[in-house]
Amino acid sequence: MPEFHISVLGSGSSGNVTFISDGSVRILLDAGLACREIERRLRTLGVAPHQIDGVLLSHEHSDHSKGAWRFCAKHAVRLYATQGTYEKTHKLPDREVEWVRVRSSSSVKIGRLTVDLFPTPHDAADPVGFRVKRGKLAFGHVTDIGHISDAVVDGLRGCSSILIEANHDVEMLRNSEYPASLRARVGSRFGHLSNEALARYLEYRLPEAVRHLFIAHLSKQNNHERLALDCCIGALARRGGRAPKIHLTYSDRPTPLLRLTEPKFVFDDHNQGVLVFS
Ligand SMILES: [Zn+2]
Ligand SMILES: [Zn+2]
Repeated sequence: MPEFHISVLGSGSSGNVTFISDGSVRILLDAGLACREIERRLRTLGVAPHQIDGVLLSHEHSDHSKGAWRFCAKHAVRLYATQGTYEKTHKLPDREVEWVRVRSSSSVKIGRLTVDLFPTPHDAADPVGFRVKRGKLAFGHVTDIGHISDAVVDGLRGCSSILIEANHDVEMLRNSEYPASLRARVGSRFGHLSNEALARYLEYRLPEAVRHLFIAHLSKQNNHERLALDCCIGALARRGGRAPKIHLTYSDRPTPLLRLTEPKFVFDDHNQGVLVFS
């Protein structure tokens, strides 16, 4: 039966890397830590770097791409990126890394995993979010979004687990010591997602089937874990229904490996068939 194993190896402006595997195919979503640090954090999960089957980049900013080319060259791993991301990041001769050009609003197969890509609203060349699928399991992954666009809502549709950005508290950003231009950039519709905007998404548009929610890319200067958590918990309570389990992510260490199995088909009290996710 298909399974997903997920660990967020690092999250935040100092580097974003997410590991996901179905038990045989292993991929990284973003590679924004130094190559050696990615290797080290993978080993804490019992994964050797050469076992990675692909690295997919969401966009070119260095907190998402820093170690990508070095890692792929060293371990003979394919690098999947849009044309825009490729042009902004490639640092090594093409012969050293096998680059697979992907397009937003398309899908790519890596072994038995299918990854759907969708455009994200961010100030980058050609940024994308991901939906990784195998059987009935689907994991949505989206950070660095200035707002929740229709494409993001569509991209996360059908997911049973999601990683999404909770970058800043609006009030903290407003009062921060960031220069005005940076404050404006982060808070713009092509910057980063606030706790408040995430809460609105959770309350009104989160897919019913979501059982696990990773909140990611928290700003060290303009957010606190407690604030982000309270914002999400409040929104999920107002939404009603079964709330997903919330997982924090960290800049300095991986999250524990989360194992997800396919939903089971069972009969409820009224003898109606329903899908139950673990
Ligand atoms: Zn970015
Ligand atoms: Zn970022």
